[in-house]
Amino acid sequence: MSPAMRGKFLQSALAALAATAVLVAGSATSAQKAPAPKAAAQKKEPSPYLADRLRTDGFLQGGAQYRAQHAQAQWENLAQEDGAVCREALKAAGIKFTSLADRKAPDTKGCGIPHGVMVSQGPTGIRYSPPLVVDCSLAATLPKVEAILQEEAERHLGGPISRVGNLGTYSCRSVRGWAQRISQHALGNAMDFSSFQPKRGRAVTVMRDYVRGGEAPEKPEERFLRAIYQRLWSESGLTRVLGPDWDAAHRDHLHLDRGRRGWRFP
Ligand SMILES: [Zn+2]
Repeated sequence: MSPAMRGKFLQSALAALAATAVLVAGSATSAQKAPAPKAAAQKKEPSPYLADRLRTDGFLQGGAQYRAQHAQAQWENLAQEDGAVCREALKAAGIKFTSLADRKAPDTKGCGIPHGVMVSQGPTGIRYSPPLVVDCSLAATLPKVEAILQEEAERHLGGPISRVGNLGTYSCRSVRGWAQRISQHALGNAMDFSSFQPKRGRAVTVMRDYVRGGEAPEKPEERFLRAIYQRLWSESGLTRVLGPDWDAAHRDHLHLDRGRRGWRFP
């Protein structure tokens, strides 16, 4: 390399180094400035969807106030139903029940059943033990719920279901692990079904016979549970059907409720 060429080479190498330095400095500058556009974006109006999410997710910072608002919205969802019309519908469907006193408002914890009924036997003759203590509007889903149970029992178990065991219905509490969300059980708006006894043969239990979503059910009892789980979700008019796939707290029952979705603060 001639001295002249070496000089040019050094010059271009230095220029390249300088350019790199500018790039590094540039990226450092933009990194330092990064929060600015973020802050500007936060000032923009959130979309209606995001605004709703921010309000409903306010429980992350809130607490008692959020729970009270959530409980009130869920209460109003049930209280707006006409109890007398609903109970007539239960009678017409052949459901055996006794009526509990109506409540005009929830108690101080946000609990209570607006139009309570105690159901001992459903429209297809299924006995519930213990009896279901629920809001009439939830009991009104039993014709569809039992139709699904009986169709799938005939298909997989060779006969109808005569008894459904449950782990309780009414319970004044929050959702397990979500202290700021009132449980639908606190409003008589949920049932936990744990076992299904056919007229002949052994009882099907969620604890023993439920096969997780990713696996193929093989035994008749497993196919029965898979079928009712899927059909209760899509056909029964319930809002939620949660089982062992949901979390460990549901390993031994199917939770069925009619809780209000997408509720908003006034
Ligand atoms: Zn439950």
